[in-house]
Amino acid sequence: MIDRLRYPLPFPDEPTYLILMIVYSLLCSAEHGFDAWFRNSAAFDAQAAGGAIACPICGDTGIRKALMAPAIRPSSKAAVTPTAEAIATPTAEVADHQAVAMQALREIRRKIEADCDYVGDNFAEEARKIHYGEVEAHGIYGESSEADREALAEEGIEVGRIPWVPLGN
Ligand SMILES: [Zn+2]
Repeated sequence: MIDRLRYPLPFPDEPTYLILMIVYSLLCSAEHGFDAWFRNSAAFDAQAAGGAIACPICGDTGIRKALMAPAIRPSSKAAVTPTAEAIATPTAEVADHQAVAMQALREIRRKIEADCDYVGDNFAEEARKIHYGEVEAHGIYGESSEADREALAEEGIEVGRIPWVPLGN
């Protein structure tokens, strides 16, 4: 779901990238929110299309992915992606958009830190343990190299990357 962030993010400083395994936050058609793990997005799509995912609250099978938290859903204004030209010469609106995007990333970071376990350099190893069922599925985040990510992708282990923005005040 992180990769659904569609903001161009011109940060003043080069951000540190972390990587995480994703728990899908889902919504039923009655807007009940719940979390579920899937092997990858294709598995989610197949199960959702087949009605195999039921809302734990009402049993509804009309399930869709949500953003990680309702609080980070951007306003409709913020969802307008500025053109490259607009970024080159930021307007007040674009500057506002960037502030909204930064705020969204801070919220995501807070949620990840609250809900997921930090595994540091062991990310790839821990991701494999979860993927292959050696440990109970849980959200993790940590650092990984480009080589790690390529190897994980080859094994069909889906991970996301987000800019790890400073939390500020
Ligand atoms: Zn429901």
